[in-house]
Amino acid sequence: MQQIIDDIAAQMASKTDKGKVASYIPQLAQVAPEQFAITVALPDGAIYSAGCAKTLFSIQSISKVFTLTLALGKLGERLWNRVGREPSGDPFNSIVQLEHENGKPRNPFINAGAITVADIILQGHQPKETLAEILQFMRFVANDDTISIDEKVARSELETGDRNASLAHFMASFGHFENPVDSVLGTYFHHCSIAMNTIQLATAGLFLANDGVNPTTGYRVVSPKRAKRINSLMLMCGHYDGSGEFAFRVGLPGKSGVGGGIMAVAPGKASIAVWAPGLDPIGNSKLGTQALELLARKTGWSVFGQ
Ligand code: GLN
Repeated sequence: MQQIIDDIAAQMASKTDKGKVASYIPQLAQVAPEQFAITVALPDGAIYSAGCAKTLFSIQSISKVFTLTLALGKLGERLWNRVGREPSGDPFNSIVQLEHENGKPRNPFINAGAITVADIILQGHQPKETLAEILQFMRFVANDDTISIDEKVARSELETGDRNASLAHFMASFGHFENPVDSVLGTYFHHCSIAMNTIQLATAGLFLANDGVNPTTGYRVVSPKRAKRINSLMLMCGHYDGSGEFAFRVGLPGKSGVGGGIMAVAPGKASIAVWAPGLDPIGNSKLGTQALELLARKTGWSVFGQ
């Protein structure tokens, strides 16, 4: 495994087209594009890394997997009254479907869906309390108490978050929100601004690769059925309007973020985190996707077969 990922890291280092770092969040635009990291965490506790696997980056939309897990824990199946579970085929910050579908987002991973999930988790609490709960959950699944929120990124998102504010107000206009829009948005921006490295992120995803139990701690996080369903949502919706392409090329449930991270799950086999800040035009990590494509090919881990 070490040889496989060393080889992948070397191949990625030699690529000249590394994509473009996200610029609509000014703080993310400052990240150096040539960085690359990959970590593979196995259910037996073995962890393999290559590249800058200890460098923290903004996990952005990858956080939506964990807020969805928390929201399912609170609401169970009733969550699906508020959010759909179909791929959107539209960009992550699109507003068009929302009007046709009466303010009910297509799935929990597009921005509108994740903003709705933030409303669900808030349950009348102050954003500060809910963020503490989200952080505590991230630390629990990653088995690392140092994980925290990058306040500079959160502020940067807030200052330039007109599109997300539009989505939130539009949904609120249908009477769907239970909390003030500003509290929901503040919660959303802050959980997107959690900073992690690939070792922490691969560890955090292990429960999804291991029928709901995090083998690092031995704790059950979700039931096997719930783990399976979160994986299926990641496969169908985890890369927005690039989800079909990611399934075609990589064949693993995965969730991307505009910070350039991707968390992917090979059920029963491994949890993988990659980070390469340059994005493709859809907003998914360009080299991160290529690295996962190579890894899936070399390991035969695609859920669709060899
Ligand atoms: N926080 C980002 C946003 O709201 C998340 C988007 C992403 O990672 N795709 O735009």
